[in-house]
Amino acid sequence: MKAVTKELQRLRRRPQPYIPSMPWAARAGCQGHDPADWMDDGPGLPTGAARAICAACPVSAACLAHALAHDEPWGMWGGLTTRERVARRLRQAA
Ligand code: SF4
Repeated sequence: MKAVTKELQRLRRRPQPYIPSMPWAARAGCQGHDPADWMDDGPGLPTGAARAICAACPVSAACLAHALAHDEPWGMWGGLTTRERVARRLRQAA
């Protein structure tokens, strides 16, 4: 858990990377919803409603792949929070 927190802090301190266009986002299930429900940088976590929308989203795999490829430091993408994505990456690297 300490390694996840340390990596999360590193991601959030670095300059924001260039993010290419995301054509798959035209079919995003979260369109029209409050992005605040997806944020994971405050005391709260993404809402249950946001998780349900991600779970049913037709482009969740592309969304998650994008976030992993670009080390997206904020929010839930493809149904995983930043902390969950970092933990997954560290597990896979071990
Ligand atoms: S997986 Fe979630 S965050 Fe990604 S596009 Fe779909 S609804 Fe939006």
